[in-house]
Amino acid sequence: MDPSFPMTRAAGLERLSDFLARAGAAYAADRNTDRGPGHPPTTSALSPYLRRRLVTEAEVVAAADSAFGDGGAEKFVSEVFWRTYFKGHLETHPSAWTNARTLAVADHQRLAAEPGLRRTYEAAVDGRTGIDGFDDWVRDLVETGWLHNHARMWFASIWIFTLRLPWTLGADFFMRHLLDGDPASNTLSWRWVAGLHTRGKHYVARAENIRRYTEGRYDPAGLDEYPDALEEPMSPREIPLPAADTPPSGTVALLLHLDDLHPESLPMDSATVVRVGGLIAHAVGASDRVRSADTAAMMDALARAEVHFGCPVGLVEGGWAGDLPVVTAWAPVGPSAAALPDRCLRVRRAWDEAAWPRSTRGYSRLRAAIPAVLAAQV
Ligand SMILES: Cc1cc2nc3c(=O)[nH]c(=O)nc-3n(C[C@H](O)[C@H](O)[C@H](O)COP(=O)(O)OP(=O)(O)OC[C@H]3O[C@@H](n4cnc5c(N)ncnc54)[C@H](O)[C@@H]3O)c2cc1C
Repeated sequence: MDPSFPMTRAAGLERLSDFLARAGAAYAADRNTDRGPGHPPTTSALSPYLRRRLVTEAEVVAAADSAFGDGGAEKFVSEVFWRTYFKGHLETHPSAWTNARTLAVADHQRLAAEPGLRRTYEAAVDGRTGIDGFDDWVRDLVETGWLHNHARMWFASIWIFTLRLPWTLGADFFMRHLLDGDPASNTLSWRWVAGLHTRGKHYVARAENIRRYTEGRYDPAGLDEYPDALEEPMSPREIPLPAADTPPSGTVALLLHLDDLHPESLPMDSATVVRVGGLIAHAVGASDRVRSADTAAMMDALARAEVHFGCPVGLVEGGWAGDLPVVTAWAPVGPSAAALPDRCLRVRRAWDEAAWPRSTRGYSRLRAAIPAVLAAQV
């Protein structure tokens, strides 16, 4: 695929319309096939845009429905809702993220103390394992910032069950390099592969499956194809979904962050935005490519906000909002939420408000409610 992801809303919308014109109709049949870099992707490759909400889930789903009709777009819409499900699930199980971060720090320390583990880890992240496919996916990830979903599944499974490396270090490696690196989708997908998200149900990469869905490009030998799922002493605890705020009427300052960069469609009610600030909180250890993408996306959003609200905009510095009340889009669990100042009013989109309460357990509950979530958008 084209390794470049210009981080503007315009580029995201162009990718959406290319996808709908090119691959969209064949999506359900082709989406599991990974033809690798240099070939047009079988999926939309919209994830770096959706992750930052340069384009929103609501508009992507509406565009697919209007291009292919409800039936034709069903599989694609369902995949977009996996993203929504993981976000809602992490909001109500935030310790899945905080525990993974704590474990990753401890596992990095283990590398210093355990030479055998360190050698395997270094061979993995340098792409020197000798496992057909895996080493190329490492290179693709580092050089392009993106991997096909199936390659991510095979990668994580081989990392955990064949290389026997701690899953938290794999999730951390992904977060550093993925242009769509997302605390919810990434952490919970790694947990799902390991058999921790749906307890005891793990995803096992098999050579035959890799051969088939890479159209024979890869034929790895020596995979552990019959491992046990991982276990953990205690599953992440569920907490109630925290309530969102209502924007006040009158003048406000709007604070943008990397989880929601479409200020034009935020539910601001009768608030009048007279100043806009941008807060950039990168993932821990984010690569230069990811950091540049974050900054470019923020600058694009600030430029659009300046036109839309007709007010001064800029990256936040001390005192940027004066005495104005500060309103921000709800930041789900992750670096932006951790960096937001305490005194923000946090508003939630109708999409999240309708979907997240249905995301506390398995995906099937949210999938069954997709029509209700879509109806709540109007
Ligand atoms: C181990 C592992 C780690 C992952 N880490 C991330 C991550 O950090 N960030 C991320 O956005 N996705 C992650 N995913 C999910 C998925 O691989 C990507 O969202 C997808 O590959 C993006 O490609 P696309 O935009 O072409 O997807 P498409 O198939 O075109 O789907 C459209 C959109 O739906 C959403 N989506 C599709 N599949 C999934 C899925 N399985 N889970 C969640 N959302 C999905 C994405 O927002 C995607 O852009 C991970 C999957 C695995 C197995």
